[in-house]
Amino acid sequence: SYENLKATRRANLSPALTTYYGKPLALNQGYKQWLFDLDGKRYLDMFGGICTVSVGHSHPKITEAVNEQMSTLGHCSNVYYHPKIHQYAEKLAAKLPNKLKVIYFVNSGSEANDLAVLMARCYTRKSDIVSLKNCYHGMTYETMALTCNGYYKYPVPQSPGFFRTMNPDVYRGIWGGQNCRDGPVQTDRVCNCSQECEAGIKYLQQFDEELKYEFPKCGIAAFFAESIQGVGGAVQYPKNYIKGIYNRVSATGGVFVSDEVQTGFGRTGEHFWGFQSHEIEPDIVTMAKGIGNGFPLAAVATTPEIAESLTKAGHFNTFGGNPVSSTVGLAVLDIIEEENLQENSKTVGTHLLVELAKLRELSPFVGDVRGKGLMIGVELVSDKETKIPLDSGRFLKLWETCLENGLIVGKGGLHGNVLRIKPPMCITQEDADFTVDILRDALGKI
Ligand code: PMP
Repeated sequence: SYENLKATRRANLSPALTTYYGKPLALNQGYKQWLFDLDGKRYLDMFGGICTVSVGHSHPKITEAVNEQMSTLGHCSNVYYHPKIHQYAEKLAAKLPNKLKVIYFVNSGSEANDLAVLMARCYTRKSDIVSLKNCYHGMTYETMALTCNGYYKYPVPQSPGFFRTMNPDVYRGIWGGQNCRDGPVQTDRVCNCSQECEAGIKYLQQFDEELKYEFPKCGIAAFFAESIQGVGGAVQYPKNYIKGIYNRVSATGGVFVSDEVQTGFGRTGEHFWGFQSHEIEPDIVTMAKGIGNGFPLAAVATTPEIAESLTKAGHFNTFGGNPVSSTVGLAVLDIIEEENLQENSKTVGTHLLVELAKLRELSPFVGDVRGKGLMIGVELVSDKETKIPLDSGRFLKLWETCLENGLIVGKGGLHGNVLRIKPPMCITQEDADFTVDILRDALGKI
């Protein structure tokens, strides 16, 4: 029963784990874009288990593939050859730019980024790592130093050698660029800027100053960025910002790490990987979440040269890319292709963005609607001029009203005032319309 679950959660699970909603939701079953609670109530899952369920809950093809693999060989570790692991590495590498041929399988996004830090340091023989102020790259001890301080509470001493640069947020950033937000949402661009905007240039100039005076003279080992910030609230960057950073980092001998944990696997619609929107080919790509549709699977892809440098340090993990994970990974890639899910992300995502933007005109609380494909953020404010984040009381009321009406959406952003919409990529236009209807209604109630 619900009460039993509540009691064991309190007694036996870490109190550091947070739960969503005043009365946490207890789930029992899922199918495609639907979730069902203990009482059998159905919800449209527009958050996909934190942007993870890419092809749909309990997809029959994955269930069948896992059952078959488990009944043959569940685990052997990567100290042996196994055809599934090799087949999967080959298929995944074929999805990436030619230079990124080597795949290292791990189990989570944090582990992937942690390993990317080590690879960058081994390859460049430099130590300093730079990320963006509002980024999220994980919660291992090393990746906590990469991730924005604002997402955890207690100021534990950080691993040395990590720096953050200004978040190039065109809606909220101190150099603004907000004028480019005033028009209709542009769903086919990196951000809403139609050209290299002044804000973008200023953020790059700031980075130039930091390269000169803040970071070591020998340059940095790596720059980490998400293609669109996930936990940060679907923050997109000014046009050409990522390209500008990539060029500057490469010029000093550093590597660029694209964190595709949320933006990979067709989610942004237009491309399979988020970095393709920025017209760069990263040196290292990290991926997790959607890669396994909820199965613990993640990977780091890199060049043969960078991969080779890791042999200096040596590295090992027991579970990464075991036969069952590889089977799931293969099935996910097949399903994305067979069911045209990237294309669906683009068409349904574009429709959703356009409809959500109408709420921005209608409601005094919708400050910004942004994103690409099915990676969408709706930033709620109490005043559109000052952009003061919506107070948590009204935010929670809206969020819980959505739940009552059968709609699950996420929340995020540094101020916790952004609705995050990242559903399984199989949702339909009717699901998108249902989402907008429920949100319109909930906005009316605050
Ligand atoms: N990178 C990004 C962009 C993420 O969103 C997350 C998780 N929210 C991570 C890394 C860490 O992934 P995990 O929770 O699987 O360790």
